[in-house]
Amino acid sequence: MGTLKETHSRIKAFLIDLDDTLYSYQGPHQKGMQAVYTYLHQTFSISKEVGQTSFLKAREGVHKRLHHTAASHNRLLYFQNTLENLGLSVFPHSLAMYDAYWNTFLEAMKLENGALEFLLQLRKNGKKICLLTDLTAHIQHRKVQRLELADYLDAMVTSEEAGREKPDASMFELALSKLNVRPHEACMVGDNLEKDCWGAHRAHLCSVWLQREASGLAIPPDTLVVTNLNELLPYA
Ligand SMILES: [Mg+2]
Repeated sequence: MGTLKETHSRIKAFLIDLDDTLYSYQGPHQKGMQAVYTYLHQTFSISKEVGQTSFLKAREGVHKRLHHTAASHNRLLYFQNTLENLGLSVFPHSLAMYDAYWNTFLEAMKLENGALEFLLQLRKNGKKICLLTDLTAHIQHRKVQRLELADYLDAMVTSEEAGREKPDASMFELALSKLNVRPHEACMVGDNLEKDCWGAHRAHLCSVWLQREASGLAIPPDTLVVTNLNELLPYA
């Protein structure tokens, strides 16, 4: 199949991951969690340490129950279960913590270096673009709005919509059908080697691995490795 370096002349569409690809997740997440711990402290005098222990237990439980579904990432479930673990009322505090988290998170988001340039270049060259992302639709729509990405996107597929998460081929197939392109005419760009790159490979798409950190996994033969989206400008 070949990497994007060899195949870029026939590539008509890019499927692009959102979290940790177009923006960096960790900073906004830390700030969002701090807002949640502040809420717990101000409302119930719960210390950050106790809040954190309870949150981690809640999140682990949700992950176990809802593994491989978009709902496994739903912060509303994490916060509701956190409050339940602490023996506190879930109403209206789950929703208040959810809003505190996401409002703070969204406020702190900013596009990665090279992201806007890459999207602009793709637009200029008439390439189709679909966000392909594992999470619930509502919050991913809010992120698109906050990052002002609407003008660059032709479509979005969330795992909530697909009913499966990456690397499941159905995610990739739904995106291809929305863009009306075939697998060999599309390239996946993402930071997660298993979900984004091996998922693309098994669905017969080439991919780009935006390498944020080392991975023990093998790299698929049709994956181009970059450390900054700017490196993709020649192939956009
Ligand atoms: Mg990602």
